[in-house]
Amino acid sequence: MWLNAWASMRMDKEQRWWSYEWNFAESVRNQMKLPEKIIVKDDTLREGEETPGTYFTIDQKVEIAKLLEEMGIKEIEVGYAAGIKEHSDTFKALKKEGIKMKLSSHARMYVEDVKKEVDDILASEADYINFLLVPSPTLKTKKEVFDRIAEGIEYAKSQGAYVAFGSGRVIPRFWQKFLQLAVDAGVDRVVVYDGNGCALPLAFKETVVFTKNIVKDIPIEVHTHNDLGLAVATTLAGVEGGAEVVDVVFNGLGDRAGNAATEEVIMALEILYGFNLNLKLGKIMEVSQLIEKYSKTPLQSHKAIVGKNCFIHESDLHVEQILLGNWVTWELFQPYVVGQTRKLIFGATTLQDRAIKAKLKKMNLNPTNSHLNIIRDKIKERLQTKNFISEKELEDLAKKIVR
Ligand SMILES: [Zn+2]
Repeated sequence: MWLNAWASMRMDKEQRWWSYEWNFAESVRNQMKLPEKIIVKDDTLREGEETPGTYFTIDQKVEIAKLLEEMGIKEIEVGYAAGIKEHSDTFKALKKEGIKMKLSSHARMYVEDVKKEVDDILASEADYINFLLVPSPTLKTKKEVFDRIAEGIEYAKSQGAYVAFGSGRVIPRFWQKFLQLAVDAGVDRVVVYDGNGCALPLAFKETVVFTKNIVKDIPIEVHTHNDLGLAVATTLAGVEGGAEVVDVVFNGLGDRAGNAATEEVIMALEILYGFNLNLKLGKIMEVSQLIEKYSKTPLQSHKAIVGKNCFIHESDLHVEQILLGNWVTWELFQPYVVGQTRKLIFGATTLQDRAIKAKLKKMNLNPTNSHLNIIRDKIKERLQTKNFISEKELEDLAKKIVR
């Protein structure tokens, strides 16, 4: 494979992708507190369904969950087992179908009777309870909030549950108090939220570092929103601060502008950080397409990783290099890695010659200059009525003209 002598590139052992060498520079790595292992928790069934206009039937949720499990995902968030009857039925349906992934239920801290919330969730066969503390008129004073954190977690623990607790945009002294109460009550995991997309990635990383200093060995999960298009960056910043669990949503679905996209976070962790997540990455496209269909939320064509444009090449030099086998010049990873396919097209930006020559050479044709002129003119003619011509069309054309 042809590489520039001056290119800063670290090739993957299996040549699935390459990474910018500086990602691994000591001076860069020294600024991170990366965990040893990362758990990818998928939140498509709960948060993905909160995408405006999206509703998944129980059967669709089971189908999505099965595919996530086949892909190697170990944990998913399913819904509100205590608040919504259909969600509680979904937990039971998933268990009945033999799903082995850990199933998490969102739990409301502000309800009148937090013990009933816990009992209802456990009755739905959820594997763990994920308490989220949000501002609410039911918990007015500091004392009410503090008492509720302790009461909820202690009761859930007394019932044998695995318990997570989290909140977002909390001023440090309160966050510290919340965390101490949660730790004292025996919490199993802490979740740091950026539920509004309001944090600078660096500020979010600092929040995770601050949290880690208090909770020590208790794992930290991060959940971020995309209001400024930064959800993936913020999630990765959380990992750089030491978070062990990323709570992410396929296709970047979710409330408003959505969440950190599962597929983007996974590929960034693998390529840019060098984590081996033990996932079947080749399933990414299949999962994404199933979710796209059921969510009725079409993906933009240039969506990272799973968009239909990600591996279509049209520019002259790009098409030429791909044809010569130098995918590294214009691609970061090979399409098969995520279940995509590569496609070359010939359009207005492919008429400079290099791509056409490379294509004809690959076909073992030796065109003269006049052959090339005719081919270019024919392509131009066809481009009057369409945006591009396919590789196959060019092949047919070339075979007719060059003999
Ligand atoms: Zn959210």
